[in-house]
Amino acid sequence: MDTDLRNNPGLLKLELYCRGAHIDDSLKVTDDGGRPILRTRAGLGSGLELILPDNIWTNVPTVERFVRHSPYVVRRRADGSIWIDRGREPIARVQLAPRPAWYDRETTTGKCMTQIGTLQGTYLGVYPSKVCEYWNDKPERTNCKFCSVGLNLGVDDAEDKKVQEVVEVAVAARDESKITYVDFNTGHYEGETYLDILEPYIKAVKEATGVLIGVQTPPHADLSRYDRLKQIGVNRVSFCFEIFDPEIFIEVCPGKAERYGLKRYLAAVEHCAGLGRNAGLSFDPWVSNGEIIAGIEPPESSIRAIQWIAEKGAIPTVCVFRPLLGTDYEHLPPPRTEDMVRVFAAQYEATMAHGLPINVAPNVNVSLVMLPWEARWLVSKGTRARFAFKEAKMAAQRRLFSKVFLGQLARRDERRRAPVA
Ligand code: SF4
Repeated sequence: MDTDLRNNPGLLKLELYCRGAHIDDSLKVTDDGGRPILRTRAGLGSGLELILPDNIWTNVPTVERFVRHSPYVVRRRADGSIWIDRGREPIARVQLAPRPAWYDRETTTGKCMTQIGTLQGTYLGVYPSKVCEYWNDKPERTNCKFCSVGLNLGVDDAEDKKVQEVVEVAVAARDESKITYVDFNTGHYEGETYLDILEPYIKAVKEATGVLIGVQTPPHADLSRYDRLKQIGVNRVSFCFEIFDPEIFIEVCPGKAERYGLKRYLAAVEHCAGLGRNAGLSFDPWVSNGEIIAGIEPPESSIRAIQWIAEKGAIPTVCVFRPLLGTDYEHLPPPRTEDMVRVFAAQYEATMAHGLPINVAPNVNVSLVMLPWEARWLVSKGTRARFAFKEAKMAAQRRLFSKVFLGQLARRDERRRAPVA
């Protein structure tokens, strides 16, 4: 691995997750066309959306306590270019993730569109319903201790989102930001109502746009519900069990431990991976994700989680722990970059070794997590060489999938815009 940040945007993404950056006075983020720093980031982040070299999208912590000690600064030069410097040393020329015009518009019901959904990298993230109920538990709330969702809603995010409002935002994001993927996210609701709540949104957005759809909720007791989700057009289900060590899981995620338990999360990941098996390269794909947060439990435990997920045929998604302001864990230090390098190198190796379909969907750049594909920057030349053939095969799949899928979307867009006779 090249350890020089000037040559390694994957390592730079990770280093910035772990250390954050200051925004210099020379950079006026929204005046310079960037996205405002919103807290509506699935409870995980609130930073500056940037595009690093090699088109790597990221969300850089800027307001958390640990950022005070960061040597990194984002500056605008006199020629208008934007750079990340380490002190005064130039590290990388970057771009602000562009703020789309629809960010400044309202829905027909008069709500600001960003209160309905926001871009996270290049996909649309929607948290359609009321706040996760772990935040309302009495006598003591049982929310996950790293999470900020209960601090966010009603601030930057609307509480009650109508199906039509979400469709309007999805159509605007499709037309103007060329999104290909919408991710729906809920927390926990008593009575396991989360899939019932999401289904009308999923059907309506799929019908209106044809984009890929992802769902992230707790694991439903009735696993046949996932067959149904697949039938109505969902392409990705994600189960965030966060922590693989059973004791640390109980400590970090008391609500999840009490209502569901780690085993139920793992069973859902495995079941849903099975639904996608033998599907081959489909133009309406299906993947199962197991999602963890690295940096709270020991790296070895995160690596075991990654290997378990990949062995089951699911794709490991790994977030880097960010001690967000106002959360129960705001006082904790962020993880060390060198520990995270080991974790993400394991993610790349596990996904490649098991031939999992990563980096196939077009125009899905993710700012809040490091993708398995991006983690190729963190492994040795020997490891890259070992997977060279698989990488070439994946690139061919991506080209084919992009051509057919984007063609389908374009034809649907034309039909939608065509005047009714
Ligand atoms: S389940 Fe945990 S991480 Fe998800 S919204 Fe609720 S408290 Fe936050």
